[in-house]
Amino acid sequence: MIAGMVQIVVSIAAADPATVLAGAAQAKAEGADLVELRLDRCARLAKDHGALDGILATIPRLALPAVVTARHPSENGDWDGSEPERQALLAVADEAGAAWIDHELAQWDPRRRPKRARLILSHHDFAGMGGDLPAVVARMRAERADMAKVAVTPRDAADLAVIEALHHQRAGGALTAIAMGEHGLPSRLLAGAWGGAFTFGRLRGEAGSAPGQPTVSDLIERYRIRAQGPRTRIFGVIGSPVAHSLSPLIHNAAFAHHGLDAVYVPFLVDDAVAFWRACGGWIDGLSITIPHKHALLDQVDRLEPLAARIGAMNTIYRGEDSAAIGANTDASAAVACVEAQAGTLRGSRVTILGAGGVSRAIAFAMAERGARVLIANRGHERAQELAAEVGAEACTLDAAPARPFDVLINGTSVGMEQKDKAAALESPWPRAAHRPDTVVFDTVYTPLETALIKEAQMAGATTVCGLSMFIGQALGQFSRWTGREAPEGLLTRLALERLGGRDAARSASASGETRRPPGRKGTVNLEDTLGGGV
Ligand code: NAP
Repeated sequence: MIAGMVQIVVSIAAADPATVLAGAAQAKAEGADLVELRLDRCARLAKDHGALDGILATIPRLALPAVVTARHPSENGDWDGSEPERQALLAVADEAGAAWIDHELAQWDPRRRPKRARLILSHHDFAGMGGDLPAVVARMRAERADMAKVAVTPRDAADLAVIEALHHQRAGGALTAIAMGEHGLPSRLLAGAWGGAFTFGRLRGEAGSAPGQPTVSDLIERYRIRAQGPRTRIFGVIGSPVAHSLSPLIHNAAFAHHGLDAVYVPFLVDDAVAFWRACGGWIDGLSITIPHKHALLDQVDRLEPLAARIGAMNTIYRGEDSAAIGANTDASAAVACVEAQAGTLRGSRVTILGAGGVSRAIAFAMAERGARVLIANRGHERAQELAAEVGAEACTLDAAPARPFDVLINGTSVGMEQKDKAAALESPWPRAAHRPDTVVFDTVYTPLETALIKEAQMAGATTVCGLSMFIGQALGQFSRWTGREAPEGLLTRLALERLGGRDAARSASASGETRRPPGRKGTVNLEDTLGGGV
């Protein structure tokens, strides 16, 4: 299969011919290759099967070639007419110049083979993985389908292995194999790499025709689906939830920047071990986010020493021998952010609020730098346990403000934007306990400018926004995957655009520029990485 063979299909359905024509024109404008005309949905929208005559008459005038179907209710279709009527409509579509007719394998009668259009035989399962898919595809081939299409519903991302493997058995004809829903999204985004014939996208602002469809522009621009081919290296982020992750946006931009044949997708994963065992073989590298940072420690071939000491990893990359190596780039990124403002940490008094995953990584890295670490956590036992491992002191959150500090780090989730907007206004640190000659680093970056950051700035402290750490950990991942440096300024700009707060980020970091203690150099600072260009 050569690169660029996958075609993007947009499903359209409307009650009248003008809207169908407009939908096809829009699909073409957004970059699709074909439209799928869903006669069953058109009939439902029009509440009148008579409207289908006019809709069928649009086929020769559509802006793109059409795949025509009238999906049977047994496969989640909306068709409510008789079977002879459905077959008659498909015959008219064939006569009118449809490029493809899509018919369910389960309802197939070889006497109805289209005369002009190519034939898709399809199999849909909205509740499971569709049974023995290789056998289903073999039956489609035996019926001389020009394309075999399966659309199934994974329970977890591990089921993507079934779809990936099916592509290896596509000899004998074109195959479109889709896993629906958010767990299945990577199957749509990797169709070019896997050699799929079609992938389905939705128009901007539309809901799409099946769960989990990406937009056409995301397929083309972010996931560069037309440039994908069998040699494309596959990366991604595993987490739950994962849809909010900025990582696909920035890592794909970095791959494109360097002209690398690689793609990065979001994997919604419930069981990380099952996912890695099923899919790890075709994955070149991973970012790992909540709640899986501990799950794969004993699944990789080796761990970098810092990740082993911390007992958590946010990255998997391949060594020269293809071995899977686990790393923790959160820790080094956090240290770099703080050192950029505070200078050397040896002997500095560092108070870390929190004893969860992020605090743990930071505590180990700070202790390695020779800082005197105090861990303050809501759950005191957890603080004591971490402190004992790191060689730090522990106290309760309430007791921490009375202790002197040079650097204050928030590793709790307090202040993070949640559905309850008021939560974002909270700070884990009393306003009155801020000091001017200190560095305050909030790992939370949604919102960019947290209450902690604002209050620290008002007290004259130097502040570091959590986005710097996020970008820093991504840079560490990218260099391990590719041996190259990711374009930091571009990544920061994209992240800021997505978070919608350039001004907030500028002011969050600007205070670090203007109030940095004299003689201390800054390197990982939003203002520096942006070069003042945004
Ligand atoms: P985690 O393992 O679940 O730990 C959460 C921590 O927050 C625990 O110490 C917990 O205390 C504390 N906490 C939660 N709610 C609290 C409350 N209402 N009052 C006081 N303490 C509370 O999570 P994590 O992975 O460490 O992530 C923590 C935060 O770090 C995230 O919210 C995220 O914003 C940020 N983060 C930033 C980056 C970055 O690159 N900038 C990367 C990862 C994470 P208990 O032990 O008492 O429950």
